[in-house]
Amino acid sequence: MGIIVQKYGGSSLADAGKIKNVARRIVARKEQGNEMVVVVSAMGKTTDQLIDLAHELSDAPEDREMDVLMSTGETVSSTLMVMALHAMGHDAISLSGGQAGIRTDKVHRKARILSIKPKRVHAELDRGRVVIVAGFQGLTQDADADITTLGRGGSDTTAVALAAALGGETCEIYTDVEGVYTADPRIVPEARKLDEISYDEMLELASVGAKVMHSRAVEVGGVYNIPILVASSFKEASGTLIHGGVSVEQFKKVRGIAHDLDVAKVTVRHVPDQPGIAAAIFEPLTEAHVSVDTIVQNASEEKLTDLTFTVSRTDLRKALSVIEKTAKEIGARQIVSDEKLGKVSIVGTGMQSAPGYASRMFRTLSDAGINIDMISTSEIRITCIVEEDRVRDAVKALHKAFALDTPE
Ligand code: ASP
Ligand code: MG
Repeated sequence: MGIIVQKYGGSSLADAGKIKNVARRIVARKEQGNEMVVVVSAMGKTTDQLIDLAHELSDAPEDREMDVLMSTGETVSSTLMVMALHAMGHDAISLSGGQAGIRTDKVHRKARILSIKPKRVHAELDRGRVVIVAGFQGLTQDADADITTLGRGGSDTTAVALAAALGGETCEIYTDVEGVYTADPRIVPEARKLDEISYDEMLELASVGAKVMHSRAVEVGGVYNIPILVASSFKEASGTLIHGGVSVEQFKKVRGIAHDLDVAKVTVRHVPDQPGIAAAIFEPLTEAHVSVDTIVQNASEEKLTDLTFTVSRTDLRKALSVIEKTAKEIGARQIVSDEKLGKVSIVGTGMQSAPGYASRMFRTLSDAGINIDMISTSEIRITCIVEEDRVRDAVKALHKAFALDTPE
């Protein structure tokens, strides 16, 4: 009997009827003779509501308490799912992340899984039970064993990491969309669902804003070579398979376009152009767990330069308070920030071997009258930071320019 690890997202669990629908899907697979381990997200918008509630009580709620609070959302779904399965006459049990053996580092709200010892999961499977695991959460490794969460969207990572730890052959991620699209279909109605995509491409798309998968989940899938199926929980459709065997030759085009409306930019003006300055600026940001994205340093004039970087809007306040301290220490003259930015990225493995993608992207944006604020690239991705208001236009124009509406 094979172990199947599935994950259901919050929109697939938003009310009792939807929970029943998922329970029926689980039972169908169980009755085919599979051992079922199912990771659940919090119902609907629960996590957002819990965060809002916290901010009604405190301007700066403690990260540790936020994790205890947010983890409850997944606990609720896990136990309701078990009740639904029991009502259908099936044996099942809910486990918290900690009970499933998930141990993480201590970085609250962005914890990384350090190890999984799924002894209890195996024991419950041996008893013939369906095991429902609360996603998005773990326990720290120390004796205190505090509850942590894995970052927004982190249930995907719970599922893929559990699949790896249980020796599962694939991990199935069920959501409210039919798979991974060439662009967000809400912006580009002609966007196509992809049948398959490589880990590298999916990782790039997810890390620059494609919301369909938690990027850490794709990373874990790639490292342990677990194929990940992304499909709809409402339909019987084939979905998108994320795996390592996608042939590069097949894909001469851009695979997909991702966008992100949550970009803020910080510029540190007139910093001395000498060894150690970049380290002095970015080390304290790392210590504060602010993830810095695109970084640009200008050519210097008279031994002074400007350093610009982007962070998510949620991290801007923290970034500014860290940077203000550093600026005094290194004698920078001014800090300016802009939080009305967004980014648009094109991703495709084919880019590695064929020139011309960048110039085509820049020409397309220029023809649409969109100004590029910053540019960053990887081997298989080009990202432009543009005004937030123009992001949608940029996505539409690029989807057309790279002919993504027509199949390979
Ligand atoms: N409930 C969490 C969130 O909304 C985790 C998840 O859904 O994967 O971010
Ligand atoms: Mg999600």
